[in-house]
Amino acid sequence: MIIDTHAHLFFDDIKKDITEVVERAIEQGIVKIIVPALDLKTSEEILKLSEEHDIIYAAIGLHPSDVKDADLKDIKTIEELSAHEKVVAIGEIGLDYYWNKDNMTEQKSFFREQLELAKDKTLPVIIHTRNSIKDALQIISDAYDNRLKGQFHCFSGDENDMKEVIKLNDFYVSFCGNITFKNFKHKELIKNIPVEKLLSETDSPFLTPEPFRGKRNEPSRIVYTIKKMAEIKNMNYDELLKTLYENAERLFFNSNT
Ligand SMILES: [Zn+2]
Repeated sequence: MIIDTHAHLFFDDIKKDITEVVERAIEQGIVKIIVPALDLKTSEEILKLSEEHDIIYAAIGLHPSDVKDADLKDIKTIEELSAHEKVVAIGEIGLDYYWNKDNMTEQKSFFREQLELAKDKTLPVIIHTRNSIKDALQIISDAYDNRLKGQFHCFSGDENDMKEVIKLNDFYVSFCGNITFKNFKHKELIKNIPVEKLLSETDSPFLTPEPFRGKRNEPSRIVYTIKKMAEIKNMNYDELLKTLYENAERLFFNSNT
């Protein structure tokens, strides 16, 4: 059994054949797909998708690249939406200094506020960072208490950042299809991560693994990324699958029960 913890199935080019996408995912052993939002509009769209497809669960929140068009009051709306039974996380939230360098202060406020919301609701967070991992780790350690837990999706930090994440109870990291690319530089990092700290994700429709690089990504392709991970970690594939599944269940699906 596999859980794709990160797939943006609301984009038009993937939503148009969502039924087939879900069928292909199920054929590959995927039992749950978490769809993370970017803003209020996508948060609402995902809730609708989750009502139409058993396999789909929602992470709702305001993405750092979208906070420029948002208002802190929108977090109140996210809070109201979080009562929906298929909401399993607040996300994706975080900091992006690659696309947005001119509103770092604003990004930090939205990040902090949404971490507080997650704590209040005892929901895990899905964190996006790009060129911003150090600031993100600082904000998390300031906000940290035993209610805060989550995932650094598409982890892009170095060995030291990884050590910081490992110190945080109930925090996990995941990698996308780019780990299958020839020029992927962080194999050593993946090798050294305790398997208890790893999750599986695709970031569909982006970062498609080899041998489909360049095509649209979808959850069913997650197996290529997990196989690569098993190879890098020199682990038995089925054993890795089982642990990844248990980790995702622990983080996202036991929290509300
Ligand atoms: Zn994403």
